[in-house]
Amino acid sequence: MSRFLNPRFDDLEAYVPGEQPQDTEYIKLNTNESPYPPSPEVIKRISPEEVSKLNLYPDPGGQVLKEKIAALYDVKPENIFLANGSDEALDFSFMAFCDKEHGVVYPDITYGFYPVFAALHGIPAEEIPLKEDFSLDWRDYLNTGKTVVIANPNAPTSLSIPVSGIEEILKSDPDNVVLIDEAYVDFGGESAVPLIKEYDNLLVTQTFSKSRSMAGARLGFAIGAKDLIDDLEKIKYSTNPYNINRLSLAAGEAAIDSNGYYMDNVNRIIETRDETARELKSLGFEVFDSKTNFLFVRKDGIPGEDLYTGLKDRGILVRYFDRERIRDFVRISVGTPDQMEKLVSAISDIACRKGERS
Ligand SMILES: *Cc1c(COP(=O)(O)O)cnc(C)c1O
Repeated sequence: MSRFLNPRFDDLEAYVPGEQPQDTEYIKLNTNESPYPPSPEVIKRISPEEVSKLNLYPDPGGQVLKEKIAALYDVKPENIFLANGSDEALDFSFMAFCDKEHGVVYPDITYGFYPVFAALHGIPAEEIPLKEDFSLDWRDYLNTGKTVVIANPNAPTSLSIPVSGIEEILKSDPDNVVLIDEAYVDFGGESAVPLIKEYDNLLVTQTFSKSRSMAGARLGFAIGAKDLIDDLEKIKYSTNPYNINRLSLAAGEAAIDSNGYYMDNVNRIIETRDETARELKSLGFEVFDSKTNFLFVRKDGIPGEDLYTGLKDRGILVRYFDRERIRDFVRISVGTPDQMEKLVSAISDIACRKGERS
């Protein structure tokens, strides 16, 4: 820390992303990327012709992409906010809709970025514990008088709640924003997007990073009532008007044009997920009922850290969280069938060795 840093940030603990080794030494199952490449249309769109236009700023409004997303989700372009990854949409939302008097609530076990955004913007945060079985009871979020943030499906638990519960939260507190982070919704969750027509306090974020194979492009979006979107635009135009670069805009347009390709991949990933879950259960693992592209698993007698290290030694990266309540678990992104076969055989090897020793 330099002596110049604003003291406001002295105690800020930054978000720690999963490891991103820049070679292909590991089977990478630690940051919930898609194992499949972007669609052929996306690859074609990032042409020398497109690259040759990089001397020009991109469209700050991203109008073409907004229209395509709006058509896909049956809303209007004015209901779409484009972000440099959904992390940016979340950041701007914390900034726009929470303040010092008016705090934020989210579960104790959820996306690790929420507490960072709260701390960054000086917002008082309340964590509501998930139930003993790590399920989320939407009744805990009725009438909180605060901005509510829920990842649905939740991470890293992989569990989801029905949209009917979200609707009850929206109704209970119409003067507060309910922010639903749908980063994983395409893998079996139920989207709250249809409710934006009825509830002007609902904001939903989604991303191209997971189901649309574009984590490297940094593209996300929020869907909500026009007034909420205008507020986010105000923050964006006060921060970085060209937040989406020209290549990512083009890639996003091509990705929406080839939606079928991604939905086929989603189905493939769901099949692989369910098959892997069955195999891990047969090895004695507890596996949560995932509605995402990852599995949250544990086995009695093997701490999460040992699983993580054992797998890393065998060339496979997964995510382990050194946090209360979830130290026993690892989170495993769903890769290709071949990658998951290697994972299962490595895990089985680790479990056997443990068994022999005890
Ligand atoms: C991955 C993820 C995001 C952010 O994704 P971006 O790459 O920034 O779009 C947001 N929320 C959750 C719960 C995630 O897992």
